[in-house]
This record gives sequence, structure tokens and C-alpha cells, in this order.
Amino acid sequence: SIKVSSLVDHLPLWAAAETVDHTVETLLPLYLEAARRDQPTFLNMDMEEYRDLELTLQVFEKLLDRPELEHLHAGIVLQAYLPDAPSAMERVRRFAERRVAAGGAPLKVRLVKGANLAMEQVDASVHGWTQAPLLSKEETDAQYKRMLLEALDPARLEAVHLGVAGHNLFDIAFAHLLMRERGIPSGPGHGVEFEMLAGMAPGQQAVVRESTGTMRLYVPIVHPQHFDVAVSYLVRRLEENASSQNFLSAAFELDSSPELFEREQQRFLDSLERARAETSLPTHRDQDRAAEVTAAHGPLPLGSPALPAVPGAFRNTPDTDLSTPANQEWAARITHRIRGSELGVQEARDARRDTVEAVESTIARALAAQPDWAGLGVEKRAMILRRVAGTLAAHRAELLEVMASETGKTLEQGDPEVREAIDFALFYAEQAERLAAHSDLVSAPRPLTLVTPPWNFPVAIPTGGALAALVTGSSVIMKPAPQSLRTGALVGRLLHEAGVPREVFTLVDVPEDEVGRALVSDPRIDQLILTGASETASLFASWRPELRILAETSGKNSIIVTPQADLDLAARDVAASAFGHAGQKCSAASLVITVGSVTRSRRFSAQLADAVLSLHVGRPTDPTAQMGPVVEAPGEKLRSGLSELSDGESWLSRPRQLDETGTLFSPGVRTGVEEGSPFHLTEYFGPVL
Ligand SMILES: Cc1cc2nc3c(=O)[nH]c(=O)nc-3n(C[C@H](O)[C@H](O)[C@H](O)COP(=O)(O)OP(=O)(O)OC[C@H]3O[C@@H](n4cnc5c(N)ncnc54)[C@H](O)[C@@H]3O)c2cc1C
Repeated sequence: SIKVSSLVDHLPLWAAAETVDHTVETLLPLYLEAARRDQPTFLNMDMEEYRDLELTLQVFEKLLDRPELEHLHAGIVLQAYLPDAPSAMERVRRFAERRVAAGGAPLKVRLVKGANLAMEQVDASVHGWTQAPLLSKEETDAQYKRMLLEALDPARLEAVHLGVAGHNLFDIAFAHLLMRERGIPSGPGHGVEFEMLAGMAPGQQAVVRESTGTMRLYVPIVHPQHFDVAVSYLVRRLEENASSQNFLSAAFELDSSPELFEREQQRFLDSLERARAETSLPTHRDQDRAAEVTAAHGPLPLGSPALPAVPGAFRNTPDTDLSTPANQEWAARITHRIRGSELGVQEARDARRDTVEAVESTIARALAAQPDWAGLGVEKRAMILRRVAGTLAAHRAELLEVMASETGKTLEQGDPEVREAIDFALFYAEQAERLAAHSDLVSAPRPLTLVTPPWNFPVAIPTGGALAALVTGSSVIMKPAPQSLRTGALVGRLLHEAGVPREVFTLVDVPEDEVGRALVSDPRIDQLILTGASETASLFASWRPELRILAETSGKNSIIVTPQADLDLAARDVAASAFGHAGQKCSAASLVITVGSVTRSRRFSAQLADAVLSLHVGRPTDPTAQMGPVVEAPGEKLRSGLSELSDGESWLSRPRQLDETGTLFSPGVRTGVEEGSPFHLTEYFGPVL
């Protein structure tokens, strides 16, 4: 019984089709080996996270469709706590019936309730999605019974054998009685097995084996050196069964505690009633980015699933849910458009200001428009900001495309950034209204704000800076970083489309010479919002010391790993933090501080090296790329960070330049960094940890 995630290093759903093919390729030798043996081995595919349901089903079908595997005994797990389980069962059944009709071996479904409830809840809440599993134990129990009622049918068992997996004796007895009632023989070879996990309630296993004639027992197998993996398996089981919602929390006292017996009996009866009275519910997860846009014909409406916030009740906007086939196709279409994308090109041309005079007249026009904008009042400006949110959401695909095409940002990294930009719009609208409601506060906008955003978050940071100033009644001039000019220009167009007047928000592309200096040091600029290097902030301050600068500058972030940490997870998270967007984030981890035994832990360094070396580096046109390129060929500072070691340092993974463009590097990890050394103190802003 195999977990796909433990054999395939990473399962990116932004490249669903490629991921399916890669997974099939990786698993195929194992399946061929199982089929080749004199005594063929039964192979089962476990089910893990909801996000992988569609992927796992496709991999299962593709593998077992191969002529060499026609006679292999193979199975898959379905989790009854998912509303999607009955339709998945139907799909497996149709597939199995075709296979059997063509002379192939039957397939098997192991029916379980689902073991990852806590993880699914965290995942859903982090991304703003509805929880994938059903919302109560009773619904799960009812669905489990409904699926048993459907599957325990002599005709259906011809093509789909069933594993009744679980430790709930009421459900096991129910399945067994159902079999008797329907004339399905129990015992080996009749298409139904009862299944349990080693280490759980051994007394029950013996009793069930005796009364039903079958018991398939699953036992985790690990190398003695990796015994902690088995411990974490057992801890997961303990965690699951300690919950008073679950049967095993009562199992050991059922005979001595009438209350507990009564509790479990009542749960069984209530869920049985629901199983009979209700039909299956539709999936909880049906996000479809393309359909949202088609239905809206313009900005997406507030209060819709895509934008759940409404005035007075801010809520974060959900990320793109790649578990849905519709979104997987949507992502594939964006990927195809990246190469040759022309988005933002025209708008960027229009933004060009080559002379000091052109800059001065832009400033004059922005100032002339400001009193009317301020006179609109907070409510109307907040309304426009909310329309900006809807407009950005309606153009999510273009924003992802232009970021990928211009800055090399992968879609996976870009999607949460678009969400952040939308959230800025909604949140600033909300905050402005809340402040305006205080009758004892008087607000006075600063007439003209200059925003100079960076290239690494080319959608969220420009949008955030511009909207924060706009909502107060300020006019805004924005100068995007040259590396992300087209992206900034597209953001500018969307702001205008949403109703921000042209002169109130102006995008300018100025050369970074005396023209740029004239813009930053013009006395009519009241404040400057900068995200960038500390050196840039100092430079601007030196040009005009009295300029009010709101600057978010460089940093050096650490992750501290203590001996209490789960080292496997720590290694994975460190790699994700350090190398997402090729480390080009002020929030990227660039130092790991190991405490006590972690410093000596060979497991931690091996896992970290493994996590880092298995990262697939590529351009966003390759949707399987986990780490994209750096935005431009490295300057002196980053180049030294990628190549030079100080005393006592060594490479755990030496960065290598991967192509002649000079922008693709394999991730670098150095060890032995001393306090006070250059690497401890310098932000390199690239793929080196
Ligand atoms: C042989 C075997 C193989 C297994 N393989 C897998 C696998 O591949 N993938 C997998 O996910 N699980 C697997 N499991 C675990 C299984 O999904 C269940 O978690 C476990 O068996 C407990 O369910 P139960 O019917 O025994 O107990 P019960 O106590 O009757 O049910 C517990 C289950 O109810 C559900 N539940 C509890 N609270 C709630 C709630 N508030 N809302 C919604 N649902 C709730 C959960 O799914 C929980 O696991 C396997 C179990 C066995 C015995």
C-alpha cells in the first residue's frame, strides 16, 4: 500500500497534466514488477490530501489502462469524509467494469472515512477555501454507510472488490450483516475484505477475523535507521483516535461503560438514519476561475465566493484552488500564453517620460486633479477601491501571465500575490471608512504621493502603496521598477478601468538619471512610498532631506530550528521559504540557526540537502518549475553570495549557473556561517541560504 507523495518528490498542480505523466512514469516500474512476479503482488494506492484526489485517480487509471498491467490486482483508497467520494467511486466502477469486460482483473476500492481532517482544516483556512471534508462526524458516518450500501452489491463486486477499512465495530458489523442479507459470502476470495491497521486494537482484529473470516492487516515497514517515520505513523493514529468524536476513544471500555456503549450505538443509529434519508452532497470545492470572469462581465462582485468580503466585513480573498480540473485547465492556458506575451507593452510605452519638463507637467496635472478627488469623499473613494479589487480579480490570469513573462515569477508564487493586491484594495477601503466614522478625527490628504515599488512583488506592492495613498484623497504618481515595468503598467490600466481618474493616478517610466532625480526631489511631492534597498532609501533622503519617506527596506531573515522540531517538515519549510521566487523576497529565509542537537543532526542536513537538490529549477513556461530564474544576471553582490565562502564555511549544495542567460541557478546552501561574517550580515536577495 503506497503513498504517492512518498515516492514522487513533488506534485505541482499548476502543471496537472505533466504531474500525472511524471507520477505514472515514476510508479510504473513498481507496478510492472508487481505484475511480473510468479505470484503477482497486490498493490494499493493510498489516498492522502484532497488536493491530490483528481491526480491520484488519473494516475491510477493511466497505470491500469496499460496492457502489461491488465491482470494486476490493484486497488485505490476512497475517503468517505469527502463529498466527492461517491462520484469518485462511480468513476472507478465504470473504469473497472470496462477493464473486466475487456478480460482484465477486477480492481479494489478500500473504503475509509479519511485520516487527514486536521490537515485539511488547516489547508482550507490558510487559503480561504471551504473545508474539503464533510463538516461533521455524523455526515461522514452517514456517507460511509451510503457507500457501503451501494458497493456491497453482488453485481458490482464483480468489477470492484471492496476493502471495508476501519476500526468502528458498529460499521464493521453493519457491513457484515449487509453482506449476509444480500447473499455475499464472507471469507477470502469473495471480493470483500475487512481491513485494519497494525497496532490498533489487536483484540478487535482477532474477533473480526473470527466472525467474518477475513482480516487484512496493514503494517508500516521502515528501515531500522528511519524508525522515527514509523513513530510519526503511530502518533498520527494516536492523535486521530484520542478525539472523543472517534470510535476508538470508547473501544476499550465498551463492555464496562454503558454510557460509552450507548453513545456509540446512538451515533450509529443517527448516522444510519441520515444515510437512508439523505443523498450524497455535492463537492465543497468547485472554484472555476474562468467561469467567474465569464459570469461577471466586468469586475467580480463582492460577496461572491471569489471575493467573499463585503463592506463592513473584511475577509481575505481565497487563493486559486488547483484541486479543481477547471482551474488546472485555466492554469495550463496561462502557461501557454507566457512565451511571447505582449501584455503591458503598449501601456508601458505610454508611460515613458524622457525629460524633466515631461515629469514636471505630469506633476502639475496630478496636482490639478487632486482637489476633486479629495472632494469625492471617503465613501466614494472606498467604492472605487472595491471596484479595483473586483477588476484585479477579473484579470487575475493576465496579471499572472505578465509577471511570469516579465519577471520570471512562477504562477504558484504569483497567485497569492494577486490575492494580496486584492486584499489591499478591500482592506484599505474598509480602514478608510472606519477612520472616517470617528467624528473627532479630521483628515487632510497629502496632495501628491510618489510610489516607487520593487520588481519582486510587482503587483501587490505597487497596488498596496498606490491605493493606501489614493484612498486618503492623495494623487499618486507611480514609477515601477524597470525590471517590472509592463506589470506595473498593466496594474495602472486596471486601476483606471476600475474608475481611478487618469490624472489622479499616473504611471511614469523615467530614466534613472537626472530625470528620475528631478521626480524624486521635486518639492511638490509630499511623500514617497518606497519598497527597495536601504541604499536607495538613503540616496533619496540625501537628495531631499525634508522629504517624508515611508520606506520598507532590506532584511536578513532567520529560521530557528530547535530539537523539538519535526526535522523533515522543518527542512521542507526552510527550502520553501528560502527558494520560493528564487529567494528574491525580503521575507525569504536566508539564515537557518540550528539549536543544540540539530546542529549535529545528519538527518536534518541530509533532509535539507534533499529538499533543496530536488527543487526543479526552470522558467515559468515550464509549469513544473518550483524555482524560477533570478530577475536579471546577478550583480557583484549576489554573484559573490553565490560563489565565495568565508573561513569555516562549506557548501551543502553549491549553486551552479544552469544556462547561458546567467539567470537560472541551482539553489545554494552553505554551512558553518559564523556570527558577524559577511553572509550573516548581508542580504544577497537570491537563491542562497
Ligand atoms: C486498513 C486501513 C487503511 C487506511 N488507509 C487510509 C488511507 O489510505 N487514507 C486515509 O485517509 N485514511 C486511511 N485510513 C484511516 C481511516 O480513514 C480512518 O481515519 C480510521 O480508520 C478511523 O475511522 P473509523 O471508521 O475506524 O473510526 P470512527 O471513529 O468511526 O471514525 C473516525 C473518522 O471520522 C471522521 N471524522 C471525525 N470527526 C469528524 C468531523 N468533525 N467531521 C468530519 N469527519 C469526521 C474522520 O475521517 C475520522 O478519521 C485507513 C484505515 C485503515 C483501518
